[in-house]
Amino acid sequence: MAQGDIAGLIQKKRDGGCLEPDEIRSLIDGYVGGTVPDYQMAALCMAIFFQGMNVSETTRLTEQMLASGTTLSWSDFETVKVDKHSTGGVGDKVSIVLAPLLAACGLAVPMVSGRGLGATGGTLDKLESIDGFRTDLSVPEIIATTERVGCVITGTTPDLAPADRKLYALRDVTATVESIGLITASIMSKKLAESLDALILDVKTGSGAFMKSKDRARQLAQSLVDTGNRMGVKTKALLTDMNQPLGRMVGNAVEVAESIDVLSGRGPKDVVDIVLALGAELLVLAGRQPDTRRSEAMLKDKLGDGAAMEKFQEMVAAQGGNLEVARRVTPPRELAAETAGWVTSIDTEAIGRSIILMGGGRRKMGDPIDHSVGLEMLVRVGDRVDARQPLFRLFTRGREDDPIESLLRSAVHVSVSASEPLPLVLETVEAEP
Ligand code: URA
Repeated sequence: MAQGDIAGLIQKKRDGGCLEPDEIRSLIDGYVGGTVPDYQMAALCMAIFFQGMNVSETTRLTEQMLASGTTLSWSDFETVKVDKHSTGGVGDKVSIVLAPLLAACGLAVPMVSGRGLGATGGTLDKLESIDGFRTDLSVPEIIATTERVGCVITGTTPDLAPADRKLYALRDVTATVESIGLITASIMSKKLAESLDALILDVKTGSGAFMKSKDRARQLAQSLVDTGNRMGVKTKALLTDMNQPLGRMVGNAVEVAESIDVLSGRGPKDVVDIVLALGAELLVLAGRQPDTRRSEAMLKDKLGDGAAMEKFQEMVAAQGGNLEVARRVTPPRELAAETAGWVTSIDTEAIGRSIILMGGGRRKMGDPIDHSVGLEMLVRVGDRVDARQPLFRLFTRGREDDPIESLLRSAVHVSVSASEPLPLVLETVEAEP
């Protein structure tokens, strides 16, 4: 495409016009092929950031990004393929439990997952605290492991939606990440490359989420759901609360330990509840159960009778991991409240940032991760606390004037008036008619 034509498309979007399907195709083909330069794509992303995209444009961009690479080809493997995607949160270990649990219910889960983004942790970083666990499976390995075990959790490969890899890196440095249309195309192109039958999205909202406001989270959920369904994958979303960490553990090795607790039929109630809610929706979408009540009963059975745990062990072994090797956790120390009262709110993003300060997350791409650090939340919103009652158990070595301690103390807001516990699942989002 000639430079003048590209400038014309940028101008059209800048002025509020709609891009036609073949215009989007030329832009993405040109960007991946190197004929559309970064500076023009950056200008286009900024125009999209301000003007938005309608459902047709978003769907076309998703299709084009999907078509930039290969997709998982299942040939004669007929098991229903499903996945869940979370927009990311603090303490969100749901994927580690849900993939093997759904496999134990007879579904296939080829989960291509991500690393930590901003203050939120990443499933791959957590799983890499397991000795030898590989998150770099090739496309043939993803297919073979899913077919043999029933589930896999691995990173994306250079051949799945390569346009997203290039475009996301550009958006990251041009302040154009927070665009609903661009986020939708980015997430859905990677998920649809798995060639799924059904997908559940966990769109988080609150102080520890990418989308701080419920309205924006709802808009993103609707856009993701509409795009998925338009592209032939049964897709639904749950809007869930991220105004406090999910579960008690935040970090890497400590979150794997908590996931294993849930897989063993124990674990914190909020993690179990969200696993059941997301899993139940998927079992219905996949046609495995007629309603969410019966789906929940099936999921509870598989957690209770050891089948989900067995699948997890099989998946870890298939990906080279060894659960017998102890996962190192830094010895704990406690951090206490300074005043008595009720916990009214928690700055969950600050808790995510404290993990980065400990070395358990990245400041920039490629930084190494210390899997042994983390924290345990000892209070939740709505709890009564006494002065000097421990708020956190910290798995990190202390220093004098530790900035982590002051960050964490100020993250828990204690007030004299009582407050209510927070609801976890806020809304269900279905395709618009
Ligand atoms: N996660 C993604 O994969 N893409 C985005 O654009 C934002 C979050």
